[in-house]
Amino acid sequence: MEKRPQLDILLCAPRGFCAGVDRAIQIVELALQKYGAPVYVRHAIVHNKYVVDGLREKGAVFVEELSEIPPGDAPVVFSAHGVPKSVPADARSRNMMFLDATCPLVSKVHVEAQRHFEEGHEIVLIGHHGHPEVVGTMGQLPPGAITLVEDVAGAMAITPRDPAALAYVTQTTLSVDDTSEIVAALQSRFPLIHGPHKEDICYATTNRQQAVKAVAPLVDAMVVVGSPNSSNSLRLVEVAERAGCRVAMLVDRASEIDWSRLEGIRTLGVSAGASAPEKLVDEVIEAFAQRYDIKVEAKVTAVENIAFNVPRQLRPVEVTVAP
Ligand code: SF4
Repeated sequence: MEKRPQLDILLCAPRGFCAGVDRAIQIVELALQKYGAPVYVRHAIVHNKYVVDGLREKGAVFVEELSEIPPGDAPVVFSAHGVPKSVPADARSRNMMFLDATCPLVSKVHVEAQRHFEEGHEIVLIGHHGHPEVVGTMGQLPPGAITLVEDVAGAMAITPRDPAALAYVTQTTLSVDDTSEIVAALQSRFPLIHGPHKEDICYATTNRQQAVKAVAPLVDAMVVVGSPNSSNSLRLVEVAERAGCRVAMLVDRASEIDWSRLEGIRTLGVSAGASAPEKLVDEVIEAFAQRYDIKVEAKVTAVENIAFNVPRQLRPVEVTVAP
C-alpha cells in the first residue's frame, strides 16, 4: 500500500459554537417541541447552512420579514443577531407570538446604545454595513442617532454635531485588531469619546481569534469551518492570513476543501466559527485522515464555561411538591 504523507493537525481551542448560538438553536428546537411545526424564524437563526438546513428539516420555516408569515398561531423566533425595535412592535400589532433569540451579548450592546442616547450622546457604531446585527443595533434608536463607521478612513471622515458628546459601540463579531485601530483613530480625533464599560466584541469572537492567532504561525495552512455569511468565521480566515499563514480557507463542509491549495503541507490548523457545529469539524478532520496519516493535537488558549438561559416560556415547568 502506498505510504500516505504525514500531517500534524493543530486544533484551535476554543472553536465552534458559542453560548449565544447554542441558546438560539435550543430556542428553535424547544419551540418546535412545545408548539409543533411550523415554527417561523425571522432570518437565518445563526449564520450556518448546516444548522439552518437541519432545523428546516425539523419544521422551522425561515423568512426574512414578518409579512411573509401567514396568519395563524405559529410562533416566530427572532435570530441571534438581534432585530430593530420595529420588528417586535410589528409582531405585536399582528398579534404574533414571538420568541427572541437575540444573543444576550448583542442585547447588552442595544442597552448601551440606548443609555448613550438617553445621556445625549451621538453614537458611532463600528460594524459592517448591512450585517443583520448592525441593522438591529441601528434600529434600537431613531434614524440619525447612530452613525456607522466601518474602517479607519470612516473614523477619520465623520463630522459629529458635538465632538464632546460622542460615544461608540461595536458589532460583537469584528476583528479585534481592526477594531482597536478604528477606536484609536476615534480617540485621537475625539479624546472625550465614551466607550463601552467592557468590550463589545464578545468573548467567543475574541477567544476564537486568539486561538487562530496562536496556531497560524505554526502551520502551513489553516482550515476554518463556517459559512460565508458568518462574520466571525470570515474574521478567523483574515486573522490566520495576517498571522502569517500562507493558505487559509473557509469551508462550509469537508466537500468544499480545495485540495489543490494544500499540496505539500505538513502541518495544518483547524478552527471553526461560532456558528459551526463540531460535527462538521470532525467531518473535516476525517477528510484529512482519508489522505494523510494524521496526528491531532489541541492548542488550548482559553477555556470557556459560559451558558445562557432560554426564555422562561420554554423552560421546563417546575413542579413544587407539597411537603
Ligand atoms: Fe453572542 Fe458572541 Fe456568539 Fe454572537 S458570537 S451569538 S455575540 S456569543
